[in-house]
Amino acid sequence: MAADVTLTLVIPLYNEEVNIQKLFERCTSALTAWTEAYEIICINDGSSDKTLELLKSIHKLDSRWKVISLSRNFGHQQAFLCGLSRATGHLVAMMDGDLQDPPELLKKFYETMQESDCDVVYGIRSKRKESAFKKLMYQSYYRILKKMANIEIPLDSGDFCLMKKEVAFNLVATREQSLFIRGIRSWLGYKQVGYVYERDARFGGEPKYTFKKLFQLAYNGIFSFSQMPVKLLTSLGFWVVLISVFYSVYALYIKITSPNVPQGFTTLAIAIFFFGGVQLIALGIIGEYVLRIYDETRNRPLFIEKEVLW
Ligand code: UDP
Ligand code: MG
Repeated sequence: MAADVTLTLVIPLYNEEVNIQKLFERCTSALTAWTEAYEIICINDGSSDKTLELLKSIHKLDSRWKVISLSRNFGHQQAFLCGLSRATGHLVAMMDGDLQDPPELLKKFYETMQESDCDVVYGIRSKRKESAFKKLMYQSYYRILKKMANIEIPLDSGDFCLMKKEVAFNLVATREQSLFIRGIRSWLGYKQVGYVYERDARFGGEPKYTFKKLFQLAYNGIFSFSQMPVKLLTSLGFWVVLISVFYSVYALYIKITSPNVPQGFTTLAIAIFFFGGVQLIALGIIGEYVLRIYDETRNRPLFIEKEVLW
């Protein structure tokens, strides 16, 4: 790497005491192999074990390791954003702290960035060394998200990436509450290239993402990048109304031709069917306004300038 180019690596850590020593060793040897000009920002996300203590001693040993300790557990995505907001490098990388994402790959990401002249290189997970159930959940989720999302979110991509500082800057500037960083990163545009790698198993400890947190993240992905649930309401409403019209014709026909249809049944059945559809359409219409309010409050930039020749 050119001597004047600097790298910031952001790592969120929540109760990772068993991984920190190894993380330090692997990052140090992986990064010094190609650059001396780096800083590593570790975010202690409200750990209750020795994570912070260990990070402090590493900081004493090597001042390129910076530590930010959050006031409580805010979550993986928030911790990343905190680190990104402090990054000073020309290049900024994001990596988990359990060594599932190999730090040695960052060099490859950099080479890919040079070769394809792109702004972001992100990891695509080819194989996951996780339980079959978790793999199935992840795979189906990314495929559903791809179908639903308004933007192109690459399949099986995670947060592990290397990006130019302007991309990181724009990412931080979006300041969304329901964070789904891999989605926003993609939404930002720029030239982004995927790099396929095998995701390792955790070096040590248990996953810190509980199913509840994973579902929250999955929800954020869908509700922050898709309008489909609301659009679905409206079209469902139209279909129900349409079907109810056909049903009315049929019900009236039965009423006329068969003498033993109970009094009031036809009116009731048609009314329930028809107004059910009308209500769905009404909900969809309200939903459209809510979507617009959501868009306005989220305050995403209307455009991002990549190059200006003035
Ligand atoms: N993490 C965090 N805050 C949390 C949950 C996780 O900072 O509330 C960190 C964790 O220490 C690890 C990374 O985020 O470095 C990824 O977490 P995990 O390995 O549990 O996620 P998975 O790999 O299972 O998606
Ligand atoms: Mg992990």
